[in-house]
Amino acid sequence: MPEDFPSEDALPGALDDQSAVTAGYLPSDGEIEASLRPKSLEDFIGQPRVREQLALVLRGATLRGGTPDHVLLSGPPGLGKTSMAMIIAGELGSALRLTSGPALERAGDLAAMLSNLVEGDVLFIDEIHRMARPAEEMLYLAMEDFRVDVVVGKGPGATSIPLDIAPFTLVGATTRSGALTGPLRDRFGFTGHMDFYEPDELQRILQRSARILGVPLDEDAAAQIAGRSRGTPRIANRLLRRVRDYAEVKADGIVTLEIAHAALAVYDVDALGLDRLDRAVLSALIRSFNGGPVGVSTLAVAVGEESATVEEVCEPFLVRAGLVARTPRGRVATAAAWEHLGLVPPADLVFGSIDVRSREPIPDLHD
Ligand code: ADP
Repeated sequence: MPEDFPSEDALPGALDDQSAVTAGYLPSDGEIEASLRPKSLEDFIGQPRVREQLALVLRGATLRGGTPDHVLLSGPPGLGKTSMAMIIAGELGSALRLTSGPALERAGDLAAMLSNLVEGDVLFIDEIHRMARPAEEMLYLAMEDFRVDVVVGKGPGATSIPLDIAPFTLVGATTRSGALTGPLRDRFGFTGHMDFYEPDELQRILQRSARILGVPLDEDAAAQIAGRSRGTPRIANRLLRRVRDYAEVKADGIVTLEIAHAALAVYDVDALGLDRLDRAVLSALIRSFNGGPVGVSTLAVAVGEESATVEEVCEPFLVRAGLVARTPRGRVATAAAWEHLGLVPPADLVFGSIDVRSREPIPDLHD
């Protein structure tokens, strides 16, 4: 077995079939990512508030012998929302059914899913803000009364037949809680907001992942990778896998600080952890729009990306890193952003904040 092969424990399912191993089967990055997911609340590093609050919600329900309230998890991608949904099901000893908002295009898709639930099941809907309206309306009743109204027939002769469904717990995940309608948001008994992770938490996550993957990782190298992971465990784990590749190909497989530095340079991850797209956004904001204010969809077109990607993937971290400010008139580059690109901030940037009133905004394309 190659030295870097994860242990069988680390990859439940993927390595159950010994013939797959002897046939030279190697896990894909997706399977490795799944193996790195924390398996219990105790195993989950960071997010202390959400963890503590959720533990109470789950414990309370277990003591009463009922199903817990519906849970909404919000926050940028890669912070552990799906992992947390799996943990909730695991802690309850329930089955987890997974789907996503975009997959629930018609109410019938959701009705089929709901009517197949068994009592106590956890239904996970990722990107719940992208669910089609008819499915969302069906979900209101299901969440509140454990009932769905199935419409039979079409036009004036259509009738609706109420159907009881098993009590279940819905776990919704969203990268844009603001895009959720009020009635849907109100039906969740608990909302947990996942925030970006602190460097020391990411360092612990990296050390745990390195142990699972069998990668020798020096402490200062872990700190270096953590500092460039944009506060996001998924990115930390991805960088670890790429640094491991570098260490194995170019050196003896041990991830030292020197190796981490060299590998991160090859993969174009800068000192703040910005990748190519983040830098393209900053560069467009500054070079094409003179630092803003500019609407997010205009900015997205300038970098050839969807506005949702710029808004949900790049922007939250750029804002948190103090490089971009969201103002009512559009996005603005801060002095730190100009300096990060090696440029001199313009004169109307005062102490890092822009006097946007003095500038004409460049509006959103659909404004
Ligand atoms: P989201 O659903 O928010 O996009 P995921 O739950 O899919 O995020 O997490 C992405 C990856 O990051 C997971 O595969 C897991 O390996 C890792 N991860 C996320 N949160 C944690 C955590 N708190 N501790 C350890 N690893 C984590």
